[in-house]
Amino acid sequence: MPDGFTLWFTGLSGAGKTTIAEIVGPELERRGHLVEYLDGDVVRTHLSKGLGFSKEDRDTNIERIGWVASRLTRHGAAVLVSAISPYEETRQKARELVEENGDFVEAFVATSVEECARRDVKGLYEKAFSGEIKEFTGVSDPYEEPSDPELRLDTEEQAPEESAQIVVGKLEELGLVRSEVPA
Ligand code: ADP
Repeated sequence: MPDGFTLWFTGLSGAGKTTIAEIVGPELERRGHLVEYLDGDVVRTHLSKGLGFSKEDRDTNIERIGWVASRLTRHGAAVLVSAISPYEETRQKARELVEENGDFVEAFVATSVEECARRDVKGLYEKAFSGEIKEFTGVSDPYEEPSDPELRLDTEEQAPEESAQIVVGKLEELGLVRSEVPA
C-alpha cells in the first residue's frame, strides 16, 4: 500500500479548492490510493459545528482538520483538505501535526478576490460586500498568502483539469504517487 500524505488546498472562498480536489481524488484512487476528503464547509456541519469565524474559531477548526488529517495520513490515506485556512501560523501547525505521520503538500489556489467575486458561486461575495455577512475572508477578514507553498495554482489561467494535472504531477515528482504505467 502507498504511503499516506495530506494535500492541503488553501485559498479564498470560491477559489476552486473543492473543484480541483474532486478531480485529483478519483485520479489518486485510480492509482491505488485510499482517498479521504476533509472539506471545510462540510467539517463545519459536523466536527466543527457551532464554531464561528473569529480568529480563534477559525484556528480551532483548522487544528481539528489538521489533527484528523494526521491520523488518516498515519494509516496510509491520501487526505485531500479543502479549507480557506487563512492564517499562515495555523497552517504551519497543521503541517507539523501531519508531518509526524507523513508528507504535507500545501497547494495555494491563488484566485484573486476579484475573480472569486466575479464567479460568486455561492452568492456570498455579494453579501460580504453589502455588509450582510461580516468577517468574510478576502473582503472584511484577513487572508495570509502562503509564503512557501509546494504548489501555486493559477485558476484564472488554467482550467480545473489543468490545475489537477499540475497537482498530480507534483505528487509524482515528490514520490507520493506512482507515475502512470503505460497499459
Ligand atoms: P472553494 O472550494 O475554493 O470554495 P469551489 O471549488 O467550491 O471553491 O468553487 C470554485 C468555482 O469556480 C466552481 O464553481 C468552479 O467551477 C469555478 N471555476 C472556474 N474556473 C476554475 C478553475 N480554473 N479552477 C477551479 N475552479 C474553477
